[in-house]
Amino acid sequence: MRAAALAGWRILSAGGAALDAVEAAVRVLEDDPGFNAGRGSVLNRDGMVELDASIMEGDRLQCGAVAAVPRVANPITLARRILDAGRHILLVGEGALAFARSAGIAECDPAALVTDRQRRRHAERAARRSTIGGTVGAVALDRSGTIAAATSTGGTAGKAPGRVGDSALIGCGTYAESSVGGVSCTGDGEAIIRVVLGHRTLAYLKDAGDPEYAAKVAVDLLVEEGRGQGGLILLDWRGRTGYAYSTPLMPVAIMSPALGEPRTPF
Ligand code: ASP
Repeated sequence: MRAAALAGWRILSAGGAALDAVEAAVRVLEDDPGFNAGRGSVLNRDGMVELDASIMEGDRLQCGAVAAVPRVANPITLARRILDAGRHILLVGEGALAFARSAGIAECDPAALVTDRQRRRHAERAARRSTIGGTVGAVALDRSGTIAAATSTGGTAGKAPGRVGDSALIGCGTYAESSVGGVSCTGDGEAIIRVVLGHRTLAYLKDAGDPEYAAKVAVDLLVEEGRGQGGLILLDWRGRTGYAYSTPLMPVAIMSPALGEPRTPF
């Protein structure tokens, strides 16, 4: 997480764009097999990896997303290319792979995304219900005042093939509006979708003007009305941060000009 925060920070401190910073941070986490994103993702019911990711910049509400994508090591970059192309927002499955090819993003061997740890967990989990955890996300504010947010996940372990969670859905797992803030969510995707958590969080932030408070109220909404567990990271237009979670653990790293190096509250 320190490496991810620094990857984003290097871009921001050189005057780069928030969108590039969140993509870079999420790529580091996708490449780390310890997280449920990119390589190391959880396996679906059939023992395959299918990835969801989304990215958004909050000035012009530009966004890109992919869902149920196999064979791509960095789905956040694929989502970014869709954003840059500007025509569509969400591409899924084989269509997303065809776009990847046209955008020069190489397909990887599906086995390269599967780690021994997840294969073992899949075998142990076979009879149990879906479980959550390990999704990655980033939000950033750059010097020109643009906010961007990004989220990437393998989804829920043991999910049905073709299942799409909140992380691929703008307004649910990811949202950014530069005049308000940016948010990335994790947790029970179905519950997050039910309450449109990302968008609702920014509505709370707009009303209350306090990211810590807005994060807490949004997680209460997820638990009470969404009937699920999860958490989120939040950044407002002034660069103030907030995060909250109802799960046992949600590691966070924060970096700002005031902090000499990334701070993790854990
Ligand atoms: N929200 C993700 C999903 O439902 C899972 C997670 O955050 O752990 O796909």
